[in-house]
Amino acid sequence: MDLATMPEEKLTLLERRHEYGDVYTYLFKPAQPIPYRAGQYAHVRLFGMPPEERAVREFSFASAPHDTEISFGVDSRSGSAYQRRLHAMKAGETAGIFKIKSHMTWPPPVVSDVVMIAGGIGVTPFRSMLRDLAYKRVSLTSTFIQVGRGPYQDELSALVAEYRAIQRDELPSTLAQTIQEHHDAHYYLAGSPGFVQTVAAALSASGITRVESDEFKGLAEY
Ligand SMILES: Cc1cc2nc3c(=O)[nH]c(=O)nc-3n(C[C@H](O)[C@H](O)[C@H](O)COP(=O)(O)OP(=O)(O)OC[C@H]3O[C@@H](n4cnc5c(N)ncnc54)[C@H](O)[C@@H]3O)c2cc1C
Repeated sequence: MDLATMPEEKLTLLERRHEYGDVYTYLFKPAQPIPYRAGQYAHVRLFGMPPEERAVREFSFASAPHDTEISFGVDSRSGSAYQRRLHAMKAGETAGIFKIKSHMTWPPPVVSDVVMIAGGIGVTPFRSMLRDLAYKRVSLTSTFIQVGRGPYQDELSALVAEYRAIQRDELPSTLAQTIQEHHDAHYYLAGSPGFVQTVAAALSASGITRVESDEFKGLAEY
């Protein structure tokens, strides 16, 4: 199945989990199995939206392909009409899923050392990748850096060789140290466009060339 052009499929909401603040995980059951890869993202259509509002947003899968449910981690603090409708969904209601695409290669090409850097909710594709890694028992050295608050901290810290949760002002020093220790690693970045571009520029200035990223376009730069 070509996931980028597949016909729209239905997802049934199973559960909404409150992570913290305005961040929620939505667990859905697909009408039929969707063979996505870890680290991909999907277009999610909400039904019952006012006609003048955009009914589609892109979300990275927070679940891994072997999981029976599909999950998305959503920062809904904008309070947009889309976020309000999503939050109002009851278990058993449906949404549409279509156009599944990737910006990041998974598993990484060639190298066995991987550094993942997430800004806030940018953690979602990395949860998918790290769950996939653990399930497949693939041997990679993985370092995960969470910048600002993000969900899934306990789960992810158990899945990686090194887990660091830092504040934004600690980013320059943490990056300098990480670049020194993992100069030849494959770097993955995800989060708001401003966050991703800032980290990518710092990596590039240090001669790091293996960098892939997911810019969460539309996510506000809080
Ligand atoms: C590849 C990809 C993967 C993504 N994965 C995820 C994911 O896993 N989880 C996730 O939560 N999001 C993800 N996003 C972002 C998501 O698609 C939406 O863009 C995001 O949730 C914002 O939608 P919204 O309805 O809240 O805001 P919108 O109404 O769409 O916001 C519209 C514009 O207003 C700005 N804006 C909104 N609120 C404010 C505010 N309070 N102050 C200032 N400006 C504001 C936004 O920056 C945006 O430019 C992803 C995006 C892409 C492209």
